[in-house]
Amino acid sequence: YSTAAAAAAAAVEEPIAPSVKVDYTKLLINGQFVDAASGRTFPTLDPRTGDVIAHVAEGDAEDVNRAVSAARKAFDEGPWPKMTAYERSRVLFRFADLIEKHNDELAALETWDNGKPFEQSAKIEIPMLARFFRYYAGYADKIHGLTVPADGEYHVQTLHEPIGVAGQIIPWNFPLLMFAWKVAPALACGNTIVLKTAEQTPLSALYAAQLLYEAGLPPGALNVVSGFGPTAGAAIASHMDIDKVAFTGSTDTGKIVLELAAKSNLKTVTLELGGKSPFIVCEDADVDKAVELAHLAVFFNQGQCCCAGSRTFVHEHVYDEFVEKARARAEKRVVGDPFKGGVEQGPQIDSDQFQKILKYIDYGIKGGASLETGGERFGSKGYYIKPTVFSNVKDDMSIAKDEIFGPVQTVLKYKSLDEVIKRANNSRYGLAAGVFTQNIDTANTLTRALRVGSLWINCYDVFDASIPFGGYKMSGNGREKGSYGLQNYLQVKAVVTPLKNPAWL
Ligand code: NAD
Repeated sequence: YSTAAAAAAAAVEEPIAPSVKVDYTKLLINGQFVDAASGRTFPTLDPRTGDVIAHVAEGDAEDVNRAVSAARKAFDEGPWPKMTAYERSRVLFRFADLIEKHNDELAALETWDNGKPFEQSAKIEIPMLARFFRYYAGYADKIHGLTVPADGEYHVQTLHEPIGVAGQIIPWNFPLLMFAWKVAPALACGNTIVLKTAEQTPLSALYAAQLLYEAGLPPGALNVVSGFGPTAGAAIASHMDIDKVAFTGSTDTGKIVLELAAKSNLKTVTLELGGKSPFIVCEDADVDKAVELAHLAVFFNQGQCCCAGSRTFVHEHVYDEFVEKARARAEKRVVGDPFKGGVEQGPQIDSDQFQKILKYIDYGIKGGASLETGGERFGSKGYYIKPTVFSNVKDDMSIAKDEIFGPVQTVLKYKSLDEVIKRANNSRYGLAAGVFTQNIDTANTLTRALRVGSLWINCYDVFDASIPFGGYKMSGNGREKGSYGLQNYLQVKAVVTPLKNPAWL
């Protein structure tokens, strides 16, 4: 490890105090912070140490009922969908300004609860949060239907209307960005919301939601219920008065959400699920640049990205050089206290994920892959894992098939384009892929052949608000972000009126 890594390692033992207080730990229902009906709370932990940061109100089915009543009233009677679209957009624009004003507090809460580097939170994710809200604020007064050329004596138009009460269940890997992907388009379209945060990371969304109220959101338009999946989450997915549910998380839980929705009121469901995305390094690639990009693709956010480029396919002609350089790059990765400047990798989210990743590393070693570097915990406290690189990985190994969701790169060798296309597509997932080549024909061939929802050519993890995101196959359905993201929160009403004595048909 580098000197910087060694300095950061020292910081792991003595965690840096975050420069923010935890002010909001209750449920946010009808614009008020309230205790859970049961009076229960649960601890949210600092992944750097496993210590308790705060005790948070634990919402369950009864609290979801209260939140749905508030959201229902705010939709059916309240001002949100009835406000002019321009007024709605102004609330969202004001919220974006407040996000910028509170950038560092939001970033500190995000890093404290999640473990991601503070520089990433403060310089990338919180500015993106503001960008997302401005992007959809701009759409609020530009949502419109069509005049349809009907064949006959009728005037036909479509109205694009909000769906109603949206239930939203989000994960812990990007707590505030997932908040933005879900909340911004839903509110812009005039829906009201019951949002459940992940039990690992309840803090930042509560802070952000109260800023949204400060920006002028009417009571009940957004309700935040902290709590666990099988209780609060399942209550949302199966609620008869929720009109739509949007979920991000694991494929297994996505199936449960879909089933609960089907068994209750057939609410529409959008799902953003797991992945095992290929990153393909072609024969002509500049190896140094490919190593850097492939490294970012898998290690970003401690490897906790649904679209992590976690299967690195490398052409046989550059394979050995690539593996050697990938190992060296992983060893230079600065792991440590995420509040320390220059740190690239903080701890994993919690003990469960930490154990799961170490178990997969063990499967990799026992299965015959070559461990090039890492493979064990980093430091002696918290949930840090050394950046890990495996070479000689075979397609049928579990480390090449399953979503590890950790800092583990698996490098696979291939000979031809046809072969790598087949192997890259041989996955139950289809979320994303990366291609690194200087040959336009190769890029075009792979563009058409890869069965994925996002394809990054000579780049990776580019996430502007305007770029749609979602999965093929078991990585989910529907698209979030961009103009496509609006469709999740709108329904179409066809309106037909007879034309009396039309001048023309
Ligand atoms: P998860 O899918 O169980 O949790 C995601 C969200 O779903 C959380 O808010 C959780 O409370 C909720 N949830 C859980 N059970 C539910 C249920 N029965 N009904 C309704 N909601 C429910 O994910 P996890 O347990 O935190 O992580 C497990 C694995 O999932 C990870 O190792 C990773 O592979 C994957 N994951 C993927 C993403 C992603 O962005 N695609 C995010 C987090 C985790």
